[in-house]
This record gives sequence, structure tokens and C-alpha cells, in this order.
Amino acid sequence: MQVCVYCASSAKIDSAYFEATTELAEILVSNNVQVVFGGGGSGLMGTLADTILRLGGKIKGIMPHFMNEVEWGHTGVSDFTYTHTMHERKSKFLEGTDAIIALPGGTGTFEELFEAITLKKLGQIDTPIVILNTRGYYDLFKKWMALAEDERFMSKDQSEIWRIVDTPEEVLPAILSFERRRIDIRQAGKMR
Ligand code: AMP
Repeated sequence: MQVCVYCASSAKIDSAYFEATTELAEILVSNNVQVVFGGGGSGLMGTLADTILRLGGKIKGIMPHFMNEVEWGHTGVSDFTYTHTMHERKSKFLEGTDAIIALPGGTGTFEELFEAITLKKLGQIDTPIVILNTRGYYDLFKKWMALAEDERFMSKDQSEIWRIVDTPEEVLPAILSFERRRIDIRQAGKMR
């Protein structure tokens, strides 16, 4: 299995986020899961890659040239793909990917997560999406999406699109619990 992990570049965050990332990386390696990520050397991206490399797992970075030029890339990761644009990078994240995992992060992580959710809602991908809610970081996301449903900007089909779990041990079971079914674009149209 190959998973794509979206996560923070910030290193100034609570230690609980690093601990959860380390634990998730250990679980992925022990289950022979390969990882694709943004290729960064800092924050949760750095911890994810450090742990996977330390345990002998497989990790691939996908990064635009402009980030590599300012040396944002993880220096220990040897498997790298460089892209011309951020858009190209995001589409490469999803090539051959069996599941998407979003850890806490900033706007970069949100953007990647929302693009994946939107592509799935429009029937362009059927990839399981699991959000790890360490320290309740995604509680406001839950509330925001519930508001969007209540105000009827969105249909009540969230559980088909993504699952939110509180601990790293729940991530793989949540991925496996998805029934891979592409949303029919005609059905998506009816939701509006
Ligand atoms: P964020 O969630 O805002 O920290 O952003 C994570 C995303 O933005 C990832 O896709 C990263 O590749 C990219 N990114 C933002 N800042 C950096 C950085 N200093 N080093 C590497 N990648 C970064």
C-alpha cells in the first residue's frame, strides 16, 4: 500500500503532534506501507521522514523546484520527484496512492486536504481520506463542515468522503473500512 501524508512544516508546535507523527510512521513501516509526502525537512514532515528512514521504511518526496532551491527538502530522503508547479506536485501526490492521511498542519495542509476532498466529492478520485485529530486540532473543521451541511452548502455525505480519528492506531483500520466507490458526478450534481 502507498499512502500520501499531508502535514505541517512548522516546528514550533506542541510535542504531542510530533509524538503522534512518530507513532503513525512506526505503524506505517511495520505494516509495509510506503509513504509519499511533501518532501520537507522541517516540522511534522521532517519527523515523519526521519522516523521512516530510521526504521528502514520507504518514503518519497514530491516538491516543486522553487522549494528545493531554497533547501527546504529533507536531506536524508533519496527518492525525490521535483515538479514545476504546486499544482503539478498535488496531482503527483495522488498518483498510485491508495489512501490520503491528513495530520495537523497550516494552510498548505488545509489546501491539500480540501483539494482531495473536492476531487472526491466530484468523483475524480475514490481514495480513502483519513484525518488525524491530534489534540482536537480538527474539532473546528468538524464544526465548520457541520455548519456547511446545516446551511445546505454541502450534502450530508461526509462519512463517505473522509473519516476523522483521534489516535494513530485508528488510522489504518479507518483506511481499510472505506468501501472504494467513486461518486457519480450526476449524483454529486443532485447534492446542490
Ligand atoms: P503547512 O501545512 O502550511 O505547514 O504546509 C505544508 C505544505 O506546504 C507542504 O506541502 C509543504 O511542502 C509546504 N511547505 C510550506 N512551508 C514549507 C517549508 N518551510 N519547508 C517545506 N515545505 C513547506
